[in-house]
Amino acid sequence: IEITGAPIFNEGGKWKGVVLVFHDITDLKRLEQMRKDFVANVSHELKTPITSIRGFSETLLDGAMNDPALAEQFLTIIHKESTRLQSLIKDLLELSKLEKADFELNFENVNLKQLMQDLIIIIDQNAEKKNIRILSDISETTFIRGDSARLKQLFLNLLTNAVNYSSEGGEVNVSLSNEEDYVNVSIADTGIGIPEEEIPRIFERFYRVDKARSRNSGGTGLGLAIAKHIVEAHHGSLEVESEAGQGTTFHVTLPKDLTQN
Ligand code: ADP
Repeated sequence: IEITGAPIFNEGGKWKGVVLVFHDITDLKRLEQMRKDFVANVSHELKTPITSIRGFSETLLDGAMNDPALAEQFLTIIHKESTRLQSLIKDLLELSKLEKADFELNFENVNLKQLMQDLIIIIDQNAEKKNIRILSDISETTFIRGDSARLKQLFLNLLTNAVNYSSEGGEVNVSLSNEEDYVNVSIADTGIGIPEEEIPRIFERFYRVDKARSRNSGGTGLGLAIAKHIVEAHHGSLEVESEAGQGTTFHVTLPKDLTQN
């Protein structure tokens, strides 16, 4: 709390008392703290791959290059870490666009059935490597007014997570239901799930339940923060149901045409 005070006097100029104004600055402080945490997180996330790229390239230059097996191992790490940097920067730029006050969607007619089917084909390649089956129940052609590039990003993030946080032999179920004014898309996995107490935090930037698992699968920790922004820009909702060890379901609800309201 911040307090400012001023004396008050009566007409004769005699001191009458003081006015004290109490400003509740907890919200401001919290915002400021979040901004500081974000900058610290970004710095840390950038520093880790850069340190590793520098270290391994120096070792190569110092002679490891002459050992082909070692050289290949180090180059693989350098490649992986630079790919991580690229994803991180791409996600940071996307997040900063979405958070701009004057951010606007590019509205167009989006064939959601087609969009989901295209994404499933892309994600299937990763899923197959882990022997994960992707099943879908998307029979009806469904058009909505929305930003197709953003919607692709949104569903790609959710599908990628469903595969990344599932074990070998798991299953991912994608369903789309077409209502009068809105559509529901749900993406359900039989993966590791999210402990109840962590659920409220997973949409925060850089929050991960298991850091090592997220990093290993190429996660930036920004996917769900981006997903939430995209859903909100479309005036929809994004909800999650999960049970540790059982699996997770994300439900996306989008109005079919928010530009009409
Ligand atoms: P990341 O790049 O780490 O996947 P996200 O923002 O996409 O970042 O997700 C944040 C965290 O939420 C993940 O690190 C993971 O702990 C948890 N999470 C997201 N999706 C799932 C899922 N389908 N199953 C289990 N945990 C999940």
